Amino acid sequence: MSSDDAMTARVAQLRQRIEAACARSGRAPDSVALLPVSKTFGPQAVRQAAALGFRRFGENKTQEIRQKAGPLADLDIQWVMIGHLQTNKAKDAARDAAEVQSLDRLDLAYALQRRLQAEDRALDVLVQVKTSPEPSKHGLDIQAVPDFLRIVASECPALRVQGLMTLAMQSNDTAAVRACFRALRELRDRLRAESMAGVRLDRLSMGMSGDFEVAIEEGATEVRIGSAVFGARGYV
Ligand SMILES: *Cc1c(COP(=O)(O)O)cnc(C)c1O
Repeated sequence: MSSDDAMTARVAQLRQRIEAACARSGRAPDSVALLPVSKTFGPQAVRQAAALGFRRFGENKTQEIRQKAGPLADLDIQWVMIGHLQTNKAKDAARDAAEVQSLDRLDLAYALQRRLQAEDRALDVLVQVKTSPEPSKHGLDIQAVPDFLRIVASECPALRVQGLMTLAMQSNDTAAVRACFRALRELRDRLRAESMAGVRLDRLSMGMSGDFEVAIEEGATEVRIGSAVFGARGYV
């Protein structure tokens, strides 16, 4: 089997599993978007995935976006920043990414705002929330999100908040993983009830190769999938 065929087969299987999870939870099969995460995979793998119809690709390093964007300049694709973003890389993200899903603090919001303002551009963002107790996970504490959204809405007009993003606990305990996803959805529901002007919370980005079905059952509108699309990663 060629690597093209292998990716086609993985994506077909993934779509079936997404549809089945949607069916189980009474959701429309097209209510969950699939964001392929191409980190650590080279331009050729991204090209293969683009040939299957994908137009947006998740990456966790701005340098890696830069490296891939050149050889793929002939493709109509966009880069989505999903990894922890250092404030001194805000300039690169504002230039090269169409969206940042890892907005998790005010100094980053202000840095992005300054760069975007200078370029007269806007950027879609998701606010990353820490739903897992693991110290390695980034994100705003749940209690900090309402004030954060108010400040971003009033002081960072170039940032268009579209929703929330989280990484669940890495665990074999499905109940613990589910609790993380559920916490994000419940937060979104509370924020909606508070109706914050100018803030849209339509999107919930949650679920990866190992836990996306649980995330869909808990309301994910997009799942970020690396290895189940591209194959096993040699390093993280
Ligand atoms: C790597 C990564 C993913 C995808 O991980 P897989 O387990 O390969 O699907 C999703 N989200 C974030 C933030 C990541 O860094």
